[in-house]
Amino acid sequence: MDEKEIKIPQSEPELITKVGSLQELLEKASGVRAVLDYDQEDSGLAENVPFPFLALVGQNQMKLSLVLSLLNPNLDGVLLIGPRGTGKSTAVRSLINLLPDVRRSLCYYGCLEEEIESGGIDAVCPVCAKKYGQGDPLSRLENVSLVELPLNSTLEDVVGGLDPQAKANSRRQLKRGILSRADRNLLYVDEVNLLNDQIVDAILDAAAQGQYTVRRGSMSATYRSNFTLIGSMNPEEGHLRPQIMDRFGLRVLVKGLENKEDRLEAYQRTRAYKESNRAFSAQYAPATRAFKDEIQASREQINQVELSDEIAQIGLELIEDLELDSLRAEITLFEAARAHAAADAREQVNLEDIRVVAPMALRLRRSSFIEQYIADQSSETELLEKAINKLIPPQDLDQED
Ligand SMILES: [Zn+2]
Repeated sequence: MDEKEIKIPQSEPELITKVGSLQELLEKASGVRAVLDYDQEDSGLAENVPFPFLALVGQNQMKLSLVLSLLNPNLDGVLLIGPRGTGKSTAVRSLINLLPDVRRSLCYYGCLEEEIESGGIDAVCPVCAKKYGQGDPLSRLENVSLVELPLNSTLEDVVGGLDPQAKANSRRQLKRGILSRADRNLLYVDEVNLLNDQIVDAILDAAAQGQYTVRRGSMSATYRSNFTLIGSMNPEEGHLRPQIMDRFGLRVLVKGLENKEDRLEAYQRTRAYKESNRAFSAQYAPATRAFKDEIQASREQINQVELSDEIAQIGLELIEDLELDSLRAEITLFEAARAHAAADAREQVNLEDIRVVAPMALRLRRSSFIEQYIADQSSETELLEKAINKLIPPQDLDQED
């Protein structure tokens, strides 16, 4: 293989031209076996190179849920539930290279062209109105970024507060918080079940309303905070209130890889990545770029995707059968189905879309989570005993006495 071409890929590889949809690409690219090439030179740069999304082995539900949430901002995010070491954080962080572009305002007040298009010229500030009239841009295209909420964040870090460095009488006395910086971005909260309730409530309220207000003494400010929320949690470390669980659009149970070949492949890829993260990522770079373009294109198409009454009726029937009360059940089911159709380059939702996304959209909508969780734990105990006893048969106690 030509070394130069690996580092600066010039042409789209064969793989990309043969797929007709993002779904297909996801399946094909994920199945590609890594070509371990230790001869390539490490750049030595200390920049953080995320593990490539397309190099994640298996875990199709987790990957699909993350991609759908990138395609459709109306999905209300994703919650990944599973034990440690199942690649939840790695998967979320690997989205960095797939994030689509959004318009970001160049103005202090956050004016955007789309506000003029929907609300007329008075919808923006006078300076921007003038710029618009002259044909100057009010915004530029920028990559969505991944904002991570550190576990030790205080409420002030999250919503913002007084800026100790600001001059008196300045309108910038309030400091932006993480939620404001997450506007039009992806907000990742690892171990969401370990955050304090006040912070979780602030995040969920901001996510639901797309904005939030901070008051400090006589000052107040309302910040935009339109973000896609991704949470992950290990249920062994503490549970999440059911009402919080319900507010995540998609819920995915992440288990360890089941078959030995997959586990070996995952091990080898992790090893190759650790050996040289750049060289490893470079192998996936062309596919990653094509995948990112597909995501962008599908995202732009999402508003054209239609859901017929016929399909909607079947979705509602499913929700009725499952006795789900939350209205979020159908919102998420239908929005996820639309995203799934867009990923497949279709403008009509079909029954297959509903079938594929239903488990992610409808799981854990009932408060029976805890009961189920306890039941799972006792069956696991049984399993453990069985496996241990098979390999290490219990000693005959009578003999030892
Ligand atoms: Zn403006």
